Amino acid sequence: MLNFSYFNPTRIFFGEHAIERAVALVPEEARVMILYGRSSAVKYGVVSELRSALKKRWMVVFGGVEPNPEYDQLMPGIDLAVREGVDFIIGIGGGSVIDAAKFIAAAVGYSQDPWTFVMDRGATIRGALPVGAVVTMPASGSEANNRAVISRRSVGIKRAFMNDHLFPLFAALDPTKTFSLPPRYIGNGVVDTYVHVLEQYLTYPVGGEVQDRLAEGLLLLLLNQGPKALEDPYNYTVRANLMWSATLGLNGLIGAGVPQDWAAHRAGYELTMLYGLDHAQTLAVLVPAMMDVRREVKREKLLQYGERVWGMKEGAPDERIEKAISLTRNFFEKMGLSTRMSGYGVHDFDVDLVVQKLEEHAVLPLGEKLDIDAEVMRSILRRCR
Ligand code: ZN
Repeated sequence: MLNFSYFNPTRIFFGEHAIERAVALVPEEARVMILYGRSSAVKYGVVSELRSALKKRWMVVFGGVEPNPEYDQLMPGIDLAVREGVDFIIGIGGGSVIDAAKFIAAAVGYSQDPWTFVMDRGATIRGALPVGAVVTMPASGSEANNRAVISRRSVGIKRAFMNDHLFPLFAALDPTKTFSLPPRYIGNGVVDTYVHVLEQYLTYPVGGEVQDRLAEGLLLLLLNQGPKALEDPYNYTVRANLMWSATLGLNGLIGAGVPQDWAAHRAGYELTMLYGLDHAQTLAVLVPAMMDVRREVKREKLLQYGERVWGMKEGAPDERIEKAISLTRNFFEKMGLSTRMSGYGVHDFDVDLVVQKLEEHAVLPLGEKLDIDAEVMRSILRRCR
């Protein structure tokens, strides 16, 4: 096992009345900004539930945060927060809204253009307003981690930044709040969570058996409960397990002390910026292609994954690896995602353009062994068509 330090200060409130219980952590005299994305947060009553739980506290609302939260759209939110003296931010939604809340929270007291701390990956953040997260779309794990992802279309960049000041103070997880999610969001959430686990698991062995067993447990859970969430949308137990697995998939626990990959995420950001794919769609396309091209680098872990997650104990190793890759692809498709760019109507997929963007944004080489250079990336992307 590798050396590590593990820190996670976010207090989780899970289950019934999670919002009401969590809001007790907001000071009575706080000036609260409520952030949300889709109008469904209003339609299904989550905004009003939060407002009534906040009782007499002062509050202002900033709605309409888009998926892949956008720098230019959030700047007025920062101005509003500064003008009104906001000192507590609560985001209602999934990763996009929670990330937007973190961005505004860090930007309010920051002396320069906040794009600076996005570009330096959070290194110059010195503080942030306290953030609360009310999760209605489980996937990102942002409710209990120190990272956020912001996009800026005018310069074609989508980028993750991290800093320990960005851990939310609390996360309210009420599985009933996910009942109204359309199937596309459920499919995306399950695939995103599955890939968060793979990014921290499918690398090379370092004797981190605790981390491996936790990761394998989450993967098995997702394989089992993901399809059930689509078939039976009002099943509380299924939704509760998916919600908790999304948090545990990216709260730092399973990745502490083991190598991490994240190549699919980094390359996926470019596919979202260039072709407008949902985050999870980019992962569904890239992950099988990366497993295919990097099967030698990942050989031992691919065999372990095949055996412990897919129950493959017999047959030649190369055949088992081949089968593990195709079963992973089938699972993503079963969750309603295509695993090819053409499946999203992208018939002019430009491999060289994607590589050019990755080079411009200085993200290559990628992978747990930094083995993905421009040439390897080209062969991965050629398999995505
Ligand atoms: Zn993700």
